This record gives sequence, structure tokens and C-alpha cells, in this order.
Amino acid sequence: MRSDPNVPQRRDIGGSLAGATLTTARNDMDYSPVALMPDVKVIKVGGQSMLDRGRSAIFPLLDELVPLKDKYQLLLCCGGGTRARHIYSVASELEMPTGVLAALGGYVPRQNARMLQMLLAKHGGVFMLHDDFEKLPLYFKLGCIPIMTGMPPFGYWEKPGAGGRIPANRTDAGVFLSAEVLGVKRALFIKDEDGLFTDDPKKNPSATHIERIGARELLKRDLPDLIIERVVLEYLTRARYCTELQIVNGLKRGLVTRALEGEDVGTIIYKD
Ligand code: ADP
Ligand code: MG
Repeated sequence: MRSDPNVPQRRDIGGSLAGATLTTARNDMDYSPVALMPDVKVIKVGGQSMLDRGRSAIFPLLDELVPLKDKYQLLLCCGGGTRARHIYSVASELEMPTGVLAALGGYVPRQNARMLQMLLAKHGGVFMLHDDFEKLPLYFKLGCIPIMTGMPPFGYWEKPGAGGRIPANRTDAGVFLSAEVLGVKRALFIKDEDGLFTDDPKKNPSATHIERIGARELLKRDLPDLIIERVVLEYLTRARYCTELQIVNGLKRGLVTRALEGEDVGTIIYKD
């Protein structure tokens, strides 16, 4: 059909991405993202390291956190722990693919988040889903403590990892990615050791503490075991906002408070 020269043509919206494959390495688009909620304290409560220890670890930690909620915007993200390891083991034996393990393992930190919410309900604890980031300003305005799973929502779409069947992006990765999208400079990981050592201090008594280390340098050192998911170190090298991870011992009182006050207790892993 011939177009009528008297009718204006539909307009093309130009732009640097028009006709682009989006896969080319050459990209002249400027990327300087907005820091959405830079003051939020994105905090991981370890699964195996903290939650699985039950009341002896969790009650004192919550006693320390609750009075801080009026001073800081606390976003608590839960790890999975032993029950996640159980389902990974059963599903592996049944030859389930990584995506299925990620989907099944994702239920466990959500259970932990629900329990933490119940424990914090009287102090304004609210359970939130991944899609509820938009509600964070409201929650903080109301004096709430939002609690969510640390697991990123990749589930069946979990990326193939380098380390076999176990999903590479677990709750440490989800916490880092949450901090990165919110524009938070430092993510806090509460675990059961004083931070990063040269090896797992539970298995190797001669392991020594590392106070500060760059992510690239740490990857290069290729330590036998790590206190944080390896994939997080790779992401850290490409971070725009979350350029520091702090790992503190949640079994020793006062360290979480000092970390939230900005003190470099525990271990700092930074973008180098
Ligand atoms: P989470 O409960 O947050 O998932 P993990 O149990 O996965 O934490 O990781 C914490 C554990 O990592 C510690 O309890 C410690 O025994 C172990 N670990 C392994 N390697 C190291 C290391 N290089 N430095 C410190 N801790 C390590
Ligand atoms: Mg872990």
C-alpha cells in the first residue's frame, strides 16, 4: 500500500541503542547510576553461622539490633544454613540441575526470614519479598525493620557456576546485589568468626586473620576456603556502589554496633 504523502509519517525515536545488538563491547552510553537509598544498612544474618545456632546466638544479636533501628535504616537479609545444605544434598543425589537446587534452596532462607520477622514483630519487623524494594521508604518512615531472604531470585534461572552443581549465587551474593542496586557503599555480613582468615579457622588452627584485603588480590591468593561466596568477590571487582564488604563476628557483643557506626572491625574486603 502506497503511503499518502499528505499524512505525516510515524516518527522514529532515535537513540544510541537504535539498531544496536546490545552485545557489542563498544558502548558509548554513559553509565553513572543513581544511589537510590545509600543510607540503608544492608545486613546479612548468617544461616549456618548464626540462625542455625538458635536462641543463644540470635536473641542477643536481636537485643543489640533493636535499639539501633531508630538510628539506622536496617534491612536484614537471612542466610539458609544446614537445611539448605540438606536439600542441596538430596537433590544432588537425585541428579537435579543447578536451577532446581537454587529454587529449592531458596525456600530455606525465606523460612528463616519469616521466623526473624516473628521475633521482631513487636519492634516493627516486617517480612518483605524481592519486589518490595519500592516499599522500603515507607517501612523506614514507619520505624519498621524490613526482613527478607538473602537469596537472589534467580531460582530455575541460576547461572552456571564454576564449582559444579551447587548454585554459585546464594545468600551472600543476594546481599551484595541488594546493596549494589540500592547504592549502598558497604554491606555487612554477620557470621560466627572474626572475619576472613587465611583458611577456615574451624579446621586450620594456624590460620591467621586478615584485616583488609582487595577483592582482586584475594581472588589471586586462591585461599583453600572462604568465609564469603567466591562469586561475590568477582562482582565486587565490577561494583559501582557496593565497593566494601565487612564481615563481623555476631557471637561477640558490640561488634555489630561498632560496624554500623562505621568502625572497621572484623574484615573489610574492598574493590581494588
Ligand atoms: P553463612 O552462615 O553466612 O552462610 P557460612 O557458614 O557459609 O556463612 O560461612 C562462614 C563460615 O566459613 C565460618 O563459620 C568459617 O568456619 C568458614 N570459613 C571457611 N573459610 C574461611 C576463611 N578463610 N576465613 C574465615 N572463615 C572461613
Ligand atoms: Mg554461606
